[in-house]
Amino acid sequence: MTGIDLVDPRDESIIRRLDYTTTEQLDDAVAAAHVAQRAWAALAPAARAEHLRAFAGVVRAHAEELAQLEVRNSGHPIGNARWEANHVADVLGYYAAAPERLLGAQIPVAGGIDVTFLEPYGVVGVIVPWNFPMTIASWGFAPALAAGNAVIVKPAEWTPLTALRLAELALAAGLPAGLLQVLPGEGPVLGTAIVDHPGIRKIVFTGSTTAGAKVMAGAAARVKPVTLELGGKSANVVFADADLELAAATAPGAVFDNSGQDCCARSRILVERSVYDRFLELLEPAVTAFRVGDPRAEETQMGPLVSRKHWARVDSFVPDDRQVAFRGSAPSGRGFWFPPTVVIPDSRDDRLVTDEIFGPVVAVLPFDDEADAIALANATVYGLSGSIFTRDLGRALRVARGVESGNLSVNSHSSVRYSTPFGGYKRSGIGRELGPDAAAAFTETKNVFISTE
Ligand code: NAD
Repeated sequence: MTGIDLVDPRDESIIRRLDYTTTEQLDDAVAAAHVAQRAWAALAPAARAEHLRAFAGVVRAHAEELAQLEVRNSGHPIGNARWEANHVADVLGYYAAAPERLLGAQIPVAGGIDVTFLEPYGVVGVIVPWNFPMTIASWGFAPALAAGNAVIVKPAEWTPLTALRLAELALAAGLPAGLLQVLPGEGPVLGTAIVDHPGIRKIVFTGSTTAGAKVMAGAAARVKPVTLELGGKSANVVFADADLELAAATAPGAVFDNSGQDCCARSRILVERSVYDRFLELLEPAVTAFRVGDPRAEETQMGPLVSRKHWARVDSFVPDDRQVAFRGSAPSGRGFWFPPTVVIPDSRDDRLVTDEIFGPVVAVLPFDDEADAIALANATVYGLSGSIFTRDLGRALRVARGVESGNLSVNSHSSVRYSTPFGGYKRSGIGRELGPDAAAAFTETKNVFISTE
């Protein structure tokens, strides 16, 4: 395909036609990126920091515009989209401190001085999924730029508009042309070309585990480093001694936020058997009260799914003859609407328990004791996030240490903060984004020995 008609998930209207980048255009972009990168890396660290602060300021000033664009292109509720736009400014602000703090080491050796330098790769490729188009782009480009790289972002086919606007805002903020380029295109075509391109030295990929494995294989052929942020099937573990009202009240948000299109969605709720029925009683009103509707409305908590194709995939998990425990409501008519849905799986092997649905469908299962809870939480190929509800601090720590997952949260569902590391175990990924070390992940370590003899 040479381009795509972008669709508003709320009413299925066409927003606009967008042409895809050709591989010749990619070559030109990489050449321009190399020129920009050399000048960028040669700037004083404080000057790079100042540019990133200016970029953060321009993003903040355009947060409302970016948020409205995301509502239209992705169907995110306006409240969420505002958070996302401001989060991009926060991420840029946080990594604006990095150029002046990329510290090497001085290592004691005989006969001289040994020092290390953290040097940029050059041009970095950032491949982004459709579920959080601007925030996930920024997790790649902000620390990469801070470390002195140029960045080529490939947004997902369905949701390129906010990333394209961010590239314009970078220019408006005074970043050099060519330093941050956003190139729309198809994964198997442009994405593959980015992975294969000899002028692109590192790949950050966020998306499905299937595509991530292909990206890793392509990068292996070029011996190119990758950071992979992939799928998830996270557990929300509720013990009998927990504040059950709190656990039940917060469980819907932990899985239905962004219509469940969240790699961190707590899509398996594991409840200690002695309070299983009571928890379901408390969960039902919280689910039916979840406000699904027009993403432009301030009070909306959940909008539509992103596309017709994705809607059909989510729907395949809950066919008409599949009994559900209870459901919330959703608008009918045009738009990719899907109600919040709670299912009781037939067994622990049910695909509702094992597969990433990436929609507003949650499975609730009982467990017997602490060991069973940990075993069940770990009975997945994924390991991205998870939550633990208990009043016993020792148990909270034991379970947090026992669950093979990159991001755990006790008596809460927090998982993404720009100042803390984020990433997955097992098939949820390789490497970490965000947090204090992310800029260093966009550097090569160079060791230099200086003889004093
Ligand atoms: P996807 O894998 O289909 O696509 C992700 C991106 O990769 C898109 O830009 C796509 O065009 C591109 N792509 C696809 N095939 C490619 C290939 N062969 N080579 C190079 N690029 C390719 O995923 P999606 O459907 O857009 O996103 C949903 C998935 O992303 C879910 O599995 C979700 O869990 C995961 N995700 C993970 C995280 C995380 O941080 N771990 C965050 C968000 C989403």
